[in-house]
Order: sequence, then C-alpha cells, then structure tokens
Amino acid sequence: MFYLTEQFFSIQGEGKYAGVPSYFLRTGGCNLSCPGFGASYSVNGERKSGCDTYFAVDSAFGNRWKKIDDAALFIRTLQAHFDEIRYLPDVVITGGEPLMYREDSTFNTVLSWLIAQKIRVTFETNGTLCPDFERYPFYAEAVYALSVKLSNSGEPENKRINPEALKQIAASAKEYYLKFTLSKESVEGSAFEEISRLLTILPDTDVYCMPVGESRETIWHHDEAVFRFCMKHNFRYSDRLHIRVFDTTQGV
Ligand code: SF4
Repeated sequence: MFYLTEQFFSIQGEGKYAGVPSYFLRTGGCNLSCPGFGASYSVNGERKSGCDTYFAVDSAFGNRWKKIDDAALFIRTLQAHFDEIRYLPDVVITGGEPLMYREDSTFNTVLSWLIAQKIRVTFETNGTLCPDFERYPFYAEAVYALSVKLSNSGEPENKRINPEALKQIAASAKEYYLKFTLSKESVEGSAFEEISRLLTILPDTDVYCMPVGESRETIWHHDEAVFRFCMKHNFRYSDRLHIRVFDTTQGV
C-alpha cells in the first residue's frame, strides 16, 4: 500500500528531461522535513514551515492523500489515462520521497509494469534511500534525479547525505544525475563547496542547478545568479518551466 497526493499529465519542467511530456505520480510522505526551505503554511490552525511540497510531506495532510492498495486496479487506471493521451509518456515518480515505498509490494508491482511497458521512469529522490537492486532488478531501469539536500535545507549532514545509498544507485541504475535547487544567497555562499564534496562521492556526474522558488516572482529573483554559477563551474542550468508558465498553480 502506498499513498499518492497527486497524479497528473504535464510536461517535465526541470532537470535533464525538461520539456518532455510526462505523467506525474506524487507519493505522500518523506524521511526528511527540510525546515530550512522556509515555505510557510497553515494546517489545523497551526503555522509551520518546510519545503514547497509540504502537502506531500507533512502527514497532517494525510487525510487528503489517496491510498493505493490494489495494484491491478491502479494499473488499469494508468492504462486508461495513457489511452486518452494516445501515447506512452515518461512517468515521473516524485514526492515527498518516493523511495520510502521501495519495499512495498503494491508500489513495486506498479513500477515493474511501467518498466515492462518500456516507459522511461524517473525517480525524483533525495538520494538517502536505496532500492534493493538485486531483489527488485526493475529499479535499475529507472532514471534517478538525485536531489541531494544541501545545508540550506536545515537538515543535519548525516541525515541528508547517505554516501552508501548514492554509490549503490550510481553502481546499479542505468542513468542518474545530481539536481540542486539553489538561491542567490547559496550560490554566493557554500553551494559550490558542498556540491564539490558530493562529486567526490559521485565523480563525473552531471550536475543540474535550478533557481529556488515556488512562483515566477521568486524564480526571477534567483535565476540570474544560478545561471552565472553554472557558467562558472561547468554545471547545467535547469529552468523550472512549469512555474514560468503556470506560476503557483499546482497539478500542472
Ligand atoms: S527531501 Fe524533498 S520532499 Fe522531502 S522535505 Fe526535503 S525538499 Fe521536501
């Protein structure tokens, strides 16, 4: 059984496959909370802060999450959506932290079906949890967008960086890359040093950097600094197309 907070068809807005039509599955729950990202929200009359997908992280929103406990039924639903789309889009499994469900039989039945359809599946993960590639070999066929958290997440280093998980994913997965959400302040601060240290764990890995922000306005504030940072250090700049086009609208 796993929890979904959203499922929708859109265009991937960021990272290596930006611009590719993609079907998104956003799972509920995360093993981190990233208080440093400072998105503030209210739930049950309480003011809290976290990342911009707090609604998929904070279990206080759990009553809005959909429980998926019948893999066959869910696969039929997906097939029906793909029939409407009239081709097999990429599938992006994001969160929260989707690899929290790496041992879940319902989740794994759905994933193995997607892989069997020859669909490109990308996990957007914080890179702290590693699937059992021997037991579940279909995990090796997925792409891993490793969005490892930096110190600006507010999480302690031993919680946000798991070198063994990163090395195992790199050794087993057919494709992976590093992806960071950066602010103007972080590129002027410790971001380069922190990314460089991660590259000692994952040498020769492509690095995508994108501006932080949940609205056009905040992205405009940070994009030029991140763009110049990428030019300086030979990293790849990724925009956030869905926010440029739809601003703060969710589910597109
Ligand atoms: S790891 Fe990602 S989804 Fe989880 S709390 Fe941090 S930013 Fe949010």
